[in-house]
Order: sequence, then structure tokens, then C-alpha cells
Amino acid sequence: MLKKKSVFDKINDYLTKKGHELCMSIYLNNYNNNNIYVRLDYVDKLSVYKIVWIDLNFFDESHIEDYINSQMMTKFLATKLVAKLTKEEYENRYDFNDDIIGDRVEILTYFKNPHEYIFDRFLPLGWDFLIDPLAMVFSYLPRGMEIFLNEIFGKFDHLEENYNYLKPVKFDLLNDDFSKLFKPQIIERGEKYFTSGKVSFLEKIENKYIAIVDGTNPYVVVIDLVDDEHILVWCNCKYNTFCKHIYAVIRAIREEKFNSFYKVRYVGKAETLLEKVTIGNFYLCFGVEDDKLLLLTAEGNVFPANIMHKNKCVFEVIEDDDDCSLSKYIEEVKTQ
Ligand SMILES: [Zn+2]
Repeated sequence: MLKKKSVFDKINDYLTKKGHELCMSIYLNNYNNNNIYVRLDYVDKLSVYKIVWIDLNFFDESHIEDYINSQMMTKFLATKLVAKLTKEEYENRYDFNDDIIGDRVEILTYFKNPHEYIFDRFLPLGWDFLIDPLAMVFSYLPRGMEIFLNEIFGKFDHLEENYNYLKPVKFDLLNDDFSKLFKPQIIERGEKYFTSGKVSFLEKIENKYIAIVDGTNPYVVVIDLVDDEHILVWCNCKYNTFCKHIYAVIRAIREEKFNSFYKVRYVGKAETLLEKVTIGNFYLCFGVEDDKLLLLTAEGNVFPANIMHKNKCVFEVIEDDDDCSLSKYIEEVKTQ
């Protein structure tokens, strides 16, 4: 059977006909949902190097010529770049997790022997030899692509946390081994959190598990069931991804240690724009502090809301616990 040509093969065929010889390619594979294919080509008849880039999210294989962008590289920079990559023969290197979708950077070089360097999101520390080549290539790409380069260099700039945001991960919430996502020390700490009952609220709402984990602050954990195979996890702690709080919540889900949130509704008079949009909406509430209700915003942030406004109670409890603790508390505040 004839193997179907990949989009990369087709692009390569097209460029080869134009006299391009592939020296290096950088593929941002589903990186922040972008698919950018970048090449360093040598064009023999002109004796020049060219940077070629294609945005595969907007690409039509039947009109390749319309989607190819290219820019001549100065001889000085090209010589430096090639020298960098050929100076030493670096072994193939891999640092990626197959269970994480996207955010992969695939760099292939074709000097002497072909080599590949593949990593997820951040260029791993110790892969310094790729810093200059990446920076040189990106200097020829549209300015908007700088954000990718900054993110790729996140580990070197110690700015990894700035780039932490939601990514779906392949994980069977009820059955998969925790070591697939969590480091051993996180599992150990998370286990302590779970066994000491720090998961104080846990409720499934639509296709999301929402939880509060008690710690130095109350931490909000959201586990979104993206599909049968993937979950999206989020915690508002500093560590952010695959932290002990998320571990503890997954443990609690597996042990079915659910505890519903209080639900309250804003019933005050709408005086500000915020109140106008919040009126009639119900909030998840997980307790009180200094006469304020601790509410969760749709984004998963905690915000303390005054129970009373101008001597009037502006919240109505629509779901309480078995002891009606929240309603009783609000009654007390009202009669103060
Ligand atoms: Zn956390």
C-alpha cells in the first residue's frame, strides 16, 4: 500500500522543486493551539539561506504557494547559525510526555547526520546549544511569534509559572496510576492532605468537579472532564499544575468523599453594574469569614461578599447543609 504523503512531505516536495534544501526545521506542534512549521533552507542557485514559515492552521495543500512565507537570512547570521549546529554532534534528545496534548516543539536538523530534539513547552535546562539557533530563526519570524519564543525559554528565564494555564491531559480519573501525573513527593504530601480531611468541599457540577482544599489559604481545585480520556485540572495555588491539592481531590473523588457547597443567591437591589449582572445568579459558597460569605467566581477565584448592605441582608441561601448552619449564621448576622 502506498503511504499517504504527510503535509510536511508535500511542503518539502514543493520547496525542493524550487531548489530549496532543508537544513533545519522547527515545528510548533499544537503549541498554544498554533501549528507553525518553520524551516531553514539552503538555496544553492542563489547561495543563500532562507527562513521559511507556514501557519498550518490556515493552510490549503492544493495551494501551497499561497501559504509559504520566506525571508532571506543574512550571510553573517546564517554562517553563525550553521556553525553553531554543526560544531558538535549533539545526540538526539527527548523530553516530552506523550500523555499531554500539544505544546510540543520538534526540532530536526539535517547537517551531516540528521538529529532530532523534541520537548514540551519549555526548552529543558541543559539544552543550551539550542538557545542561539532558536533565537536567530525567530528573529526572522513575524513579531507576533515572539510570545512562543518567550514561552519556550521560560525555564531559562525562571518564568515558568507565568505560562501555567489549562491543558487537557490524558488521564483516567478513576483508574489511572497517580505516578502518571504526580511526582512522588507530591503524592506523599497530597496523600496527607487527603487522609487528614483537608478536602472540605467537593461537588460535581455538570462535567466539572469543584473542590476546596484547606491549607494556608483555601485552595480551589477544578477538574474538568473534557472527554472520556482527557481531564483538565486547575488549582489556584502557586504550584498550579499537578499539585498536592489536585492529588487530594482526585483521591477524594475516587473514595466518593463528596460534600456539596452551600448555594446562595444575590437578592440585593442592583445598584452597581456588578450587582446588576450578579442578580439572580447563584454562587457556590464554602463558608464565612468576618461576616462575609466566601464565594467562588465562575473563574474559580475566591471572593468574600458582604452579607449585609445598608442593614439589609442581600443573600438568600438556596442550599444549606443538614444542620442549616449557613442560614443560622446569616440569621445571627442579621440580628446583630
Ligand atoms: Zn494546588
